[in-house]
Amino acid sequence: ESVFANIAQAPEDPILGVTVAYNKDTSPVKLNLGVGAYRTEEGKPVVLNVVRKAEQMLVNDPSRVKEYLPILGLADFNKLTAKLILGADSPAIQEDRVATAQGLSGTGSLRVGTEFLARHYHEHTIYIPQPTWGNHPKVFTLGGLSVKSYRYYDPATRGLDFQGLLKDLSAASSGAIVLLHACAHNPTGVDPTLEQWEQIRQLIRSKGLLPFFDSAYQGFASGSLDADAQPVRMFVADGGECFIAQSYAKNMGLYGERVGALSIVCKTADVAKRVESQLKLVVRPMYSNPPIHGASIVATILKDKALYDEWTVELKGMADRIINMRKQLLDALTSRGTPGDWSHIVKQIGMFTFTGLNAEQVKFMTEKYHIYMTSDGRISMAGLSSQTVPHLADGMHAAVT
Ligand code: PLP
Repeated sequence: ESVFANIAQAPEDPILGVTVAYNKDTSPVKLNLGVGAYRTEEGKPVVLNVVRKAEQMLVNDPSRVKEYLPILGLADFNKLTAKLILGADSPAIQEDRVATAQGLSGTGSLRVGTEFLARHYHEHTIYIPQPTWGNHPKVFTLGGLSVKSYRYYDPATRGLDFQGLLKDLSAASSGAIVLLHACAHNPTGVDPTLEQWEQIRQLIRSKGLLPFFDSAYQGFASGSLDADAQPVRMFVADGGECFIAQSYAKNMGLYGERVGALSIVCKTADVAKRVESQLKLVVRPMYSNPPIHGASIVATILKDKALYDEWTVELKGMADRIINMRKQLLDALTSRGTPGDWSHIVKQIGMFTFTGLNAEQVKFMTEKYHIYMTSDGRISMAGLSSQTVPHLADGMHAAVT
């Protein structure tokens, strides 16, 4: 008998499990709006042209070898990725106050930041928004922090519960860590305005809280890399410290390449140097050093003006298609006379719409319409096309009437 004879069957991941169920469905009209990956109008995954070009350049360069990267990754990539999120003229970069580690996409970068904090920071409580990406509480808990939540989403307005947020962060103990979605909050699609961000910043600084930004959608929200980085840059401009986890999964379509970064903005270059030395001790026993291919693609694009410009155009194309899907879905519901106010569909930002449909309505749509989404009613607008909008609108209409 196996030594694991009594092992329990684990449940599917709540997000990735949606795709497992979808794959089993044989209906020709089935629609997967569960996973957060971009699809074309034809419903196909894409590799950006600029990524193909960069890969060609890498393949054709005989000096490229497959040696190990340093523990903290590709040096060029680390410099360029910090510049992308902080801005080329960031004083933190000019003053050499940023410690960066190439990470395994957003998730791995969050995890390295968490392990570092658990080992070197005096406060182990991290506040996360309610709701948030389902993997956050697991990453932070298993990485050694203890998780509390702050109010974020108001179901009544389908918008930000700003007063609740301010109250909960005011009540946090001094020094606590606060997880902030840099833009395009997942799953709600609800972001603070810049004025609200400024109030959040003042509160966080006045209470001595430590901001930890999760930036998984830079450029994907508005179509502008700079506009989407604005909240992070506000926190860096005040000279204070912060953590930033970046992902190139969505904005460069590099999902499976697992490329991202953790940057720790420190108050002095001397602190940043010591922080960097300790990051190596976190990474070395976890995975030794990060993979070379994805980071080389990103570095190639970020350092070449022509490729960078081409990327921004392709990125805006993806963002605009998503924004257009929002309009089409709202129009389709309006033309069906679907009861309720659906204006949040065009107000929300980024890859997802938090529809407001409940678990029962989601189940109905899956069973009757073969439409797949997470049970909290979150739909990926990036998985939608002009051809599938009517079917989704039919399903939503039937679910609420
Ligand atoms: N953070 C948020 C808010 C996300 O939505 C995601 C992906 O869905 C991630 C982090 C991490 O993604 P990845 O590890 O693929 O970069």
